[in-house]
Amino acid sequence: MRKTIIAGNWKMNKTFLEADDFFANLVENIEDKELFGVEIVVCPPSLYLELASDTAQESAIFMGAQNVSEHDSGAFTGEISAPMLSSMDLEFCIVGHSERRKYFGDTDELVNMKIQNLLKNNISPIVCLGESLAERENEQTKEVVLGQLEGAFHNIEMSEEIVIAYEPIWAIGTGKTASPQQAQEIHKLIRDWLSEKYSDEIAGKTHILYGGSMNPGNVENLLQQPDIDGGLIGGASLETGKFNDMIDVAIALRNN
Ligand code: PEP
Repeated sequence: MRKTIIAGNWKMNKTFLEADDFFANLVENIEDKELFGVEIVVCPPSLYLELASDTAQESAIFMGAQNVSEHDSGAFTGEISAPMLSSMDLEFCIVGHSERRKYFGDTDELVNMKIQNLLKNNISPIVCLGESLAERENEQTKEVVLGQLEGAFHNIEMSEEIVIAYEPIWAIGTGKTASPQQAQEIHKLIRDWLSEKYSDEIAGKTHILYGGSMNPGNVENLLQQPDIDGGLIGGASLETGKFNDMIDVAIALRNN
């Protein structure tokens, strides 16, 4: 049975002290709780990965990076490699986030290389994909998502470690969420693609997260969809109260 993954993507936010406070609060919120198959992941800026890794060791929280280089090592100033992330005991790494695609030129080909590097280093990639507003309005959503899947997973042997996040760009940081029906339609499309390309077994085991203005008010309806296995949450993951509330909703749904 698939878990429910509640993952926070802090992007470029929080000072070290704020990060420290956040982790202390999160640990306190979950320490005496039965999680019922809810997996909590936080992806802070890489500068705080040591703090994150220490927190993960002392709690049930998993940690992730927000990006990785496609190279293993060498003269790539400012970059962080998969072996480095692995040496910090990280479990997850986001790849192909729309902000990386838009501002840093991450193409499907680069995303593909990054996924391969992460898998070689036993880190679960959280592979983001999704359409822009113009693509949705032109009824190209399915074509775009299927194209991104083909590009990202070219020659990749699918494994349970890989997580996919459907993140419609028009819903990221805009306060506009996809309706549960809109999100479910694309999650089902992704699961059907996994079935066809790999197997029913792989499709049944792969976690597909929704991302795009998920918050305590809409998380329940989204998580109730059969093909939505959790959320990748930006803005609402920065506030401990909101993030804790979303975790609590996910636990309550699993416990029903
Ligand atoms: C994200 O950055 O992955 C994201 C979904 O952001 P937000 O929740 O703020 O829309």
